[in-house]
Amino acid sequence: SVRVRFAPSPTGALHIGGVRTALYNYLFARKMGGKFLLRIEDTDQARFVPGAEQYILDSLAWLGISPDEGVGVGGPHEPYRQSERKDLYKAYADQLLADGKAYYAFDTSEELDAMRASFESQGSAFQYNSLTRVKLKNSIALAPAEVEQLIASGTPYVIRLKVPAKGEVRFQDSIRDWVHVHTSSIDDKVLMKSDGMPTYHLANVVDDHIMEITHVIRGEEWLPSAPLHILLYQAFGWKAPQFAHLPLLLKPEGNGKLSKRDADLGGFPVFPMEWTDPATGAVSKGFKQEGYLKEATLNFLAFLGWNPGTEQEMFSLTELAEAFSLERINKAGAKFDVKKAQWFNEQYLKLQDPAALAKEYLPSLPADQGLSFVSLFLDRITFPQELADKVAEFKARPSVYEEAVLASKWNADAATGLQFIAQALPSVDSWEPEGIKHAIHEVLEANGIKMGKVMQILRVALSGNGAGPDLMISMQLWGKQEVIERLSAALA
Ligand code: GLU
Repeated sequence: SVRVRFAPSPTGALHIGGVRTALYNYLFARKMGGKFLLRIEDTDQARFVPGAEQYILDSLAWLGISPDEGVGVGGPHEPYRQSERKDLYKAYADQLLADGKAYYAFDTSEELDAMRASFESQGSAFQYNSLTRVKLKNSIALAPAEVEQLIASGTPYVIRLKVPAKGEVRFQDSIRDWVHVHTSSIDDKVLMKSDGMPTYHLANVVDDHIMEITHVIRGEEWLPSAPLHILLYQAFGWKAPQFAHLPLLLKPEGNGKLSKRDADLGGFPVFPMEWTDPATGAVSKGFKQEGYLKEATLNFLAFLGWNPGTEQEMFSLTELAEAFSLERINKAGAKFDVKKAQWFNEQYLKLQDPAALAKEYLPSLPADQGLSFVSLFLDRITFPQELADKVAEFKARPSVYEEAVLASKWNADAATGLQFIAQALPSVDSWEPEGIKHAIHEVLEANGIKMGKVMQILRVALSGNGAGPDLMISMQLWGKQEVIERLSAALA
């Protein structure tokens, strides 16, 4: 049965593109009735960032992308943190050494730098491969006795994959279709580093095999590594998983790849949650703190590179899992459309429980008032924290009146109409929308003025603006005395 994994490296805040990768893996597992694993790939100690793993766990938890196995939940292949599996990789590297598929290399970084420089001076790029390895310091070029002596004397070494000189690596990617690469373009990649840690390539392939991963769904930036991974599977004599490389995320204008460096895309977050860089203290915005609902974030991310092939746009996580398929993932890069993200948020905001929104975002108001304000503004905001601003704005008396409306709507009928309304309001007993409307209608009709001639002017007089939420409900919320005072101030 299907087993997929999300395998982030805790080298910083999880980028929103990484969240999309996690989501697609999760959806595929749910759709196929399989398992979704979370493995932390933390073997690169130089790039380890404290707090990054917790940030990954928190971000997935916020969105409900819950692993069936892995760090934080456990499972049959524990531990799921690669730094805790260190000893295991060595045995696999030894197996490749014994089979002649890998070799020891003793070249120092100075020696390799010198090599690189000498190739560059001749206008070519240095590759550690079948052509050069025979002239370098490794267990292929050196005599066995010499190799033994170097190891015995504690000379630092790495273990490299012996990439075949001739041959083609080919595999069928679920999204890219057939990929062909000649082995001459692949380096003898380091599998074990001199500090005894495996490289990403070795640990990743070994773990995917041991953890019985059937499908590797990951970002397109890993496509260049895939042929090497195929070679590793072949060297071990293992069946490779099915690969699916997801399209790049592009900047909103389509001008290039969205990266972690775009930490502030015109005020738009590229991280799921707020992140404080432990080294610099710099704070990056997060979807969550910016007011994106988790439903909107998930829906938005799902559509970055996938579509259901129907007109339906709103999908819950469960519906996404039902509709999801690798076949409907696009090859072309997906533009990070800020407007679309906001649109999704507006849609999901309207589906929230108004009482809960009132309680969370307007905590200082009495419950019934909070609820009324939420209903008044819910379809006029993008983020829930705008509610408080809207209420404050609503409660402030107008200091200016919208000129354009006055210029077009102010006339004799409007002027006398407002006067009549001002006279009628004090005797309205039942100060609620129907009662207020009835009183206004009555006094205007008695004086032969159409309601339509006066209402927008009344709105400007009371709020300063020519447009806004339901006027009768607004009047109820302002309160009778306040409305009377605002109107007389406007008429003064
Ligand atoms: N550790 C890699 C990363 O950080 C995983 C790549 C893969 O999924 O193979 O993205």
